[in-house]
Amino acid sequence: MRKSAVPGKLHKKPLSIWERMYIPAIVKGMFTTAKHIPKKRFTLLYPEVQPERPPRYRGVHRLTKDEHGNMKCVACFMCATACPSHCIIIKGAPAPEGWIDKNGRQREKYAEIFEINMLRCIFCGYCVEACPEEAIIMTGKTYPQAGYSMRRREDFIFDCEKLLNT
Ligand code: SF4
Ligand code: SF4
Repeated sequence: MRKSAVPGKLHKKPLSIWERMYIPAIVKGMFTTAKHIPKKRFTLLYPEVQPERPPRYRGVHRLTKDEHGNMKCVACFMCATACPSHCIIIKGAPAPEGWIDKNGRQREKYAEIFEINMLRCIFCGYCVEACPEEAIIMTGKTYPQAGYSMRRREDFIFDCEKLLNT
């Protein structure tokens, strides 16, 4: 391309017949493709074939249970406070009668509602670090590995039931 006599306009060099048939460009493209065929593939048949992940990969959350099978969460809101995405919703309530703590005393509170909006979560792990009860962990599993198929927006709202069974 070179400058035209008319200011502001570029003068295009006309294409030759050979170039107008696009044959050099097609041959060049085919050559590039062929060059990559014998090379190692980086694509996977996801999700059937899972990539190798680093050992500290965080993955989907889980709410843990105590030795009596009750959720460990005491609704202290530490995780929700630490969460930079504000994606944790908790509603505390008095713990049901008979829920005892590790010292054998009746527990005061539990999370009647515990929800994580996974669409907003950035998987930073701050919630896990903030929890004084080890009540929330990250499983290292992806959604398909945890048995979830995420098709609708509602699928990304993880409530108590989902979080306790991930
Ligand atoms: S991983 Fe981070 S963004 Fe996700 S819920 Fe926990 S604190 Fe919030
Ligand atoms: S998960 Fe942990 S930090 Fe979050 S409310 Fe429950 S006990 Fe507190």
